[in-house]
Amino acid sequence: MTASIDGFCSGCSKPATTVVGQAYFHDELRWYESMHCKACDARTEADGIGFPPAEIRSLLLQQEGGFLLSLPDVQSAAKVTKLLRVLLQLEIQAAFGLIRSTDAVVYCGTRVECEWLKGKLNALGEAPVITSKILV
Ligand SMILES: [Zn+2]
Repeated sequence: MTASIDGFCSGCSKPATTVVGQAYFHDELRWYESMHCKACDARTEADGIGFPPAEIRSLLLQQEGGFLLSLPDVQSAAKVTKLLRVLLQLEIQAAFGLIRSTDAVVYCGTRVECEWLKGKLNALGEAPVITSKILV
């Protein structure tokens, strides 16, 4: 998914749009940022693996809304705890707390992040569910 921001070209200062996006590709979570100025043809590109920089992530959440990943019926608490610790860089108590929470929600973030975690959990034999976060 992508989001766009209207800004200005760093080269010629004319208005230019920056496109940011996130993808779950080849088993990895990726992000990118790309600006092309139509006035002076300047291009800037950035990308990376893992969670995107905070400002990119908040744009994606603003434009698409948040999503929840829940795990109502955990098959292996030990495996899921280990996976969440590694992927989300959590302490063991925090990871264990997530799978023991009463609402079964283990993650809240962008749709692509939820799909990435879902893929990792499916590979462990778990059956996670993604739902759109209802804003109240
Ligand atoms: Zn320019």
